[in-house]
Order: sequence, then structure tokens, then C-alpha cells
Amino acid sequence: MRHFKCIRGTSLFVFLLAFFNSAGFAQFPRFKALAFFSRTAEPAHVDFARDAIRYFEGLTWGDAFVFDTTSAWSDLNAEKLKGYSVILMLNETPRSAEQRRIFEQYMKGGGGWFGFHAAGYNDAATGWPWFLEFLGGGVFWRNSWPLLPARLAVEDPRIPATRNLPPDFMSPENEWYQWKPSPRANPDVRVLVSLSPDNYPLGLKDTIPDGDLPVVWTNTNYRMIYMNMGHGNRIFSDPTQNALIIAGLRWIVERDPNGNPFKR
Ligand code: ZN
Repeated sequence: MRHFKCIRGTSLFVFLLAFFNSAGFAQFPRFKALAFFSRTAEPAHVDFARDAIRYFEGLTWGDAFVFDTTSAWSDLNAEKLKGYSVILMLNETPRSAEQRRIFEQYMKGGGGWFGFHAAGYNDAATGWPWFLEFLGGGVFWRNSWPLLPARLAVEDPRIPATRNLPPDFMSPENEWYQWKPSPRANPDVRVLVSLSPDNYPLGLKDTIPDGDLPVVWTNTNYRMIYMNMGHGNRIFSDPTQNALIIAGLRWIVERDPNGNPFKR
């Protein structure tokens, strides 16, 4: 008799599980994110990574999603990446040919990428043609110094990452990079946010005098966003910018080819 009851209990449990799964109840955590960061990069880039990790960990409250972090590039391997809807690169990109190849495969296979500031830095010495194409073709050209806030223009509010933002906002102090050629020249690039020209000349020691300066963009051939913000410890001090970061993360994740985790 006890055995019979146990079977009935198990059946009820299985039935309830099936019911809750099919009835549209959200499953938590919704998705998994893995952030790569360096502890030995330029100190202000390490400061940013520390703040970013604290910020994203705060967003996981209530088991919203899994946020794993690593400073070991050996974790950039196919086995480890399985199951992550998005990987973040907070202040560095991989240097070894093998890890670069795995990253390229992950992205070409539908992987998600959210890169910040120094993670987009590339110059003549980088020697990684695919990454340059992935970023939209812009090579680091010049920067502003010291750290300065800047007015940013939201150029493209037609996607969820930017839909709820005001037309412009003051972004907290950052080191701003300008690119040559501008990623805008690439028809696959969609510029989401750019530096407003009324900031020019921007900088005191190093000055950006003029020109096009995309700050946040996506290469539409990939599930990715690059954001130039990421220098120093003020990046997460602005609610509008934080809203952009959250909406950007969500926009990357909701297009996961394995299914939109916000709809299951
Ligand atoms: Zn920097």
C-alpha cells in the first residue's frame, strides 16, 4: 500500500512539473552568462571589471540568471562555453591562436558577445583579421584624456537595446576611443549610440578634435554588442547608461538560437 502511494505521489509530481512547464511559468535562472576579465590589465580597466562583476552579480538576485566569471583564458574552450547564452569580455580579448579560433567558432555558431572598452581595442600589432571584421572594421585611432563625461546621442532607438532611452544622455567619465575607419562605414554595422559632436574638442592631454565616433554598435552578422564604456570606476554611476547595459544584455540573450529564455 505504501508503495502504491509513493507511485501516486511521484505521478502527481511529474504531472505538476509538466503542467508548470507547459503553462508558461518562467524558469529560473533564465540563462547563463560568462564574463572573461583580466586582473593584470591597465589598473583602470581592472577597476571597471571589478565594478562590472559587482553590477552584473547584483542583477542575478532571485536567480534571474547565472553570472559566472573567470580570468583564465583557458576557460575559453568549446566544452566550457556550452550552455552560455552570452559571454562578456570586460577588459581584454584572447591572445592565443587556439582561443581566438574557439571564440570565432562560438560566434559563428550563434554565440552571444557583450564587449566593453579595451575588449575592442585593436591596432596594427593585434594580428587578428577575423576580430577586426567582427568589430566592423574599425582600428583604434585616437583617444581622449583625462577621463571625461560626454554627451551621447542615441541614434537608433528601433531595437529593444535602445528603445527606452532618451535621444541623448550624459555618459559618466570614460576614456573615449575613436576608430579608423569608422565602423559606420561598414554596411553590416548598426550604430546604436555615438558621441555627440558638441563634445568637441574632447580632452586636455589627448584630444579628439572632430569626426564620427560610434560608441555602441552591433555587427548584424553576429549576436553582439560593443560598448566603448569601460575605463575607471564611474561607469555604472548613471541610471540611463545602466538601462542601456541591461537592455543590451537582454537583447543579445533573447536572440539565442536555442530559444528566447525570456519566453520559456
Ligand atoms: Zn581605457
